[in-house]
Amino acid sequence: MSTYAHQSSRIPPRPRVVFVMGAGRSGSTVLDLFLGQHPLVQSVGELCNFVHDGWIERRLCSCGQRVPECELWSRVTEVWKKRSQVDLETYEQLRSRVEGRRNILWQMFSRPSPEQVQLGKDVRGNFLTYAQWTAGLYQAIGEVTEKSVVVDSSKNSARGLALVLMAERLDLIDLHLVHLVRDVRGFAWSVKKSFRSDEQAGVARDIRGLPVWRSALAWTFVNSMADLVRRRHETSRSLLVRYEDFASTPIPVVLQLAGFIAIPPGPWIELLNSEKPLQPGHIVAGNRLRMQRHIRLRPDVEWQSKLSFAEKMVIWILAGWKAWSYGYRYRSEVSRADRSAPGTSPPAGHPLAGPHFLTSRDRQSTGSSSVSESAHP
Ligand SMILES: [Zn+2]
Repeated sequence: MSTYAHQSSRIPPRPRVVFVMGAGRSGSTVLDLFLGQHPLVQSVGELCNFVHDGWIERRLCSCGQRVPECELWSRVTEVWKKRSQVDLETYEQLRSRVEGRRNILWQMFSRPSPEQVQLGKDVRGNFLTYAQWTAGLYQAIGEVTEKSVVVDSSKNSARGLALVLMAERLDLIDLHLVHLVRDVRGFAWSVKKSFRSDEQAGVARDIRGLPVWRSALAWTFVNSMADLVRRRHETSRSLLVRYEDFASTPIPVVLQLAGFIAIPPGPWIELLNSEKPLQPGHIVAGNRLRMQRHIRLRPDVEWQSKLSFAEKMVIWILAGWKAWSYGYRYRSEVSRADRSAPGTSPPAGHPLAGPHFLTSRDRQSTGSSSVSESAHP
């Protein structure tokens, strides 16, 4: 499958998993896609939705095929079923219980042993079954793609915590947690916009925009949860990445990520220097960007002009304390503007930077109107 099979034909016993955690609309699909351009890395999108979206709802993979018809995913599932004796329906029931119920999240935080996590009498299997099957899926992906690292951008903190238990208590995976944050105002602007469902464009259902106060609270909650999960994990193996840093100065961030994941950074640096667009590969679920043929990135500045003064104030009153802890400042957009000379256009950023994208269609038309980010719910 991989042209680089010779470099990574020995699959390690514990799959190396990079889990991207944090709020939606934070650029996780872009980061996931970017990381997946490395010959040792397979990016898979929101793997938590793989069985539901891919096999139950038969949605599209980013390669354009329905998941059951996609060559990669049908082989992965075949290997997964054979090795782990997994039953997809039972797995999906277990997974949604572990990753979706608050009481189970509480148990995972408070109880010392994964064996004691109670999922309820109405499900077949227990946390250990979930853990072994989930590890088996990562293993199958590594085996079929012949890549040594799997990037899962499911983002959900409950899944993050389950993976921490799998890594630290059960020794089933080699976990590297990446907590991705985006400026809460950029997030709120992205969430304020509505989208009509369009499967070919990667939007599975209609998405209604949210008022900024709600998105500010949601952002604070989700990132606080991610902080807690990160603290639960060994600090040496979790990393906080601010999307804006990746967007404006990608090379230091990429070097840091490469050191963190322990793979050579060369292919990523080459890509950043080449201005080649990202190739979507086989992303099973995630935001609509995964359905674009070629993806180029540009800086995330739209919120600065689109949000009103009142909206910015409301967001900052509710979420500013949390944003501050990540190094964001209320007047950060002003200081950035100060750096460019008056009368000149704003800095274009790196061609692979920023969560706003120019698709080939946009380049043909205006080349300036933004393709807004992230449309998954
Ligand atoms: Zn595919």
